[in-house]
Amino acid sequence: MRDQDLKKQSFADIWANSVVFNELRDVNNLTGKCGCCEFRNVSMGCRARAYAATGNYLDEEPFCLYEPKSAALKDQHKAPTGVAP
Ligand code: SF4
Repeated sequence: MRDQDLKKQSFADIWANSVVFNELRDVNNLTGKCGCCEFRNVSMGCRARAYAATGNYLDEEPFCLYEPKSAALKDQHKAPTGVAP
């Protein structure tokens, strides 16, 4: 967004051609649990909160309590940690 300037470009041009807006429009760019969430096409999480929390507007939504099913499946296959033998 820093290299966008409404004094030099039209809003329509920025909207259509900005790297940031184009990244935000593609749910496949999301990372963290939003990136593997089955609801990402309808939710996407709040990109502003992700940016505020991590500095990455494509990172996972920090206030979402939902655990995507695919993340839960991955956790089932993880070895327990911090457990004494
Ligand atoms: S993890 Fe939460 S915020 Fe992210 S896409 Fe899924 S439901 Fe939405």
